[in-house]
Amino acid sequence: MSLRSANLERIDGGVFDVLVVGAGINGAVSAAALAGRGAAVALVDRADFGGFTSQESSNLVWGGFKYLENYELPLVFGLSRSRNRLMKAYPDNIKEISFLAALGEDSPYAPWFAALGATAYWGIGLFGTQRPRVFDAEEVKDEEPVIDTTSLRGAIQYQDAYLIDNDARFVFSFVRSALEAGAAVANYVEVLSAERTDGRWTVHLRDTDSGAEMTCTARTVVNAAGPFVDDVNGMWDLTTEHRIVYSKGIHLVVPRVTTSRHDRVLAFFDDTQRLFYVIPMGRRSVIGTTDTRVDTPYTEVTDEDRDFLLEQINDRLDLPEPLTRDDIIAERCGVRPLVVERGTGDQADEDWTSLSRKHEIERDDDLAVVTVFGGKLTDCLNVGEEVAEEIEALGVSLEEDQGGWYGEPPEATRKDFYRQARLMKLDSLRTKPETEPLTDRLWRRYGRRAFDMLESIRADRTMGEDVMGSADYLRVELRNAAEHEMVVTLDDFMRRRSKIDLVVRDRDIVAGEGLREVAEILFGDDAQRRLDAYLADKPSHRSRATPG
Ligand SMILES: Cc1cc2nc3c(=O)[nH]c(=O)nc-3n(C[C@H](O)[C@H](O)[C@H](O)COP(=O)(O)OP(=O)(O)OC[C@H]3O[C@@H](n4cnc5c(N)ncnc54)[C@H](O)[C@@H]3O)c2cc1C
Repeated sequence: MSLRSANLERIDGGVFDVLVVGAGINGAVSAAALAGRGAAVALVDRADFGGFTSQESSNLVWGGFKYLENYELPLVFGLSRSRNRLMKAYPDNIKEISFLAALGEDSPYAPWFAALGATAYWGIGLFGTQRPRVFDAEEVKDEEPVIDTTSLRGAIQYQDAYLIDNDARFVFSFVRSALEAGAAVANYVEVLSAERTDGRWTVHLRDTDSGAEMTCTARTVVNAAGPFVDDVNGMWDLTTEHRIVYSKGIHLVVPRVTTSRHDRVLAFFDDTQRLFYVIPMGRRSVIGTTDTRVDTPYTEVTDEDRDFLLEQINDRLDLPEPLTRDDIIAERCGVRPLVVERGTGDQADEDWTSLSRKHEIERDDDLAVVTVFGGKLTDCLNVGEEVAEEIEALGVSLEEDQGGWYGEPPEATRKDFYRQARLMKLDSLRTKPETEPLTDRLWRRYGRRAFDMLESIRADRTMGEDVMGSADYLRVELRNAAEHEMVVTLDDFMRRRSKIDLVVRDRDIVAGEGLREVAEILFGDDAQRRLDAYLADKPSHRSRATPG
């Protein structure tokens, strides 16, 4: 029986302390924190884990330097603290990175003033990163030759962190943690309706893949439906003090534009004086983001968005040829669910771009519902802890928080893995010299599970071969995904468990070797159907113009 089928069986007719609705970052951390502290938890998402907002972020784990512009000191302090904790808990997945912010003649701040801000930011972050630096235009050219320094006043460099793999994979690490702590978890399961009687919720669910309906009961509910929290609360007539408004943001993935050997984020003010970034993603650069008020969570990248970002970046870089739409390898597009107080429609309109990125958690004692509004990936540990507190307040007793529900395995386990990999000469199996060593890659992506992969490769060397010419995935990683990562559609693997869809062009994926084998390993007899569905969705599958 597959992992998902086994979990569906547990959910149908199951009795839980907590049902978590939505498995973006907020639902996934909530489930991991609650299950890790002994609660009986069910976690469902009507699509894939991390498959909505949480797959569209900038992949940055940051204190929010730019929020200092709005004097949001408590937010920046909280985010910086969370960033520092995440860097410590995930040393191989979350790395400190320099942000080089170029300040041109039109920039709203002079370099000396920005340097003051960067120093304050470093202090607010409790000096948890390297110290900031200031550069004049000539030094900027030495540091990052690609920056056009013609009208540059200088630059400041400050430090934050980023996710080396993608955001959705990070979300999945919390889903795995919840599973390992005993939670019943399933993707493609939608909450259709729920009734509360005698202090219990009876919840009606639908498997959106097969159409099958099921029911479970739960003492409490965590509504972590991101941009959809208000709709979900509408199901049980819950009126909250806060509500969600949407801000659309896009990213364009292009061939790497920076030439310096350091991984570094470049930051620029766009023509509207808003900061945007060039973020490294392996051999690619990700340019973004934008901030547009929209009335629906279902958005797509328009030509206007593309041309705006391309024009902004071409004006600020010294490239041999300007970037054009043809250089775009992939696109990301999502809405930030921003929290406002109910009844503040006008304020939300007026102060649009300065709306806070904070989160709010509301508890309703009568209905025993905890709702998570807004937030950032960076804030995830705080959200997990706060949700657990609220659930305890609703009468579910939890074990003491020992912090075991998050983080990479301990250093001794890591050392043991590196030793075993060295003894079997794992890195010598690598066929593409410009890619990272296999030992680093397997450990970072799979942690403890990577030990089994070594075992499989020892037993069968073909398990250590790349499956797709155009992407860096070993046969053994595919086997692992098939067994342990609840992959339902090919897109789940190509876009979220891996980031192949983000770094390889559609035409290369489709024309290259290996895609069929990927489908066969993941889906066995169902491979052709899943492959057809994936191909039918290309090239428009990255934008979501319609609900799904
Ligand atoms: C352009 C952009 C850039 C960003 N960059 C960063 C960044 O660099 N760093 C950072 O820290 N943050 C960033 N963020 C913010 C961050 O991505 C979001 O705050 C976060 O992902 C929101 O997660 P969530 O779990 O609340 O929502 P989601 O990820 O949207 O999850 C909600 C889930 O609920 C599910 N759902 C809805 N209704 C139901 C139902 N009835 N039954 C079952 N499931 C349901 C949905 O399918 C969805 O998967 C960015 C956001 C955007 C849009």
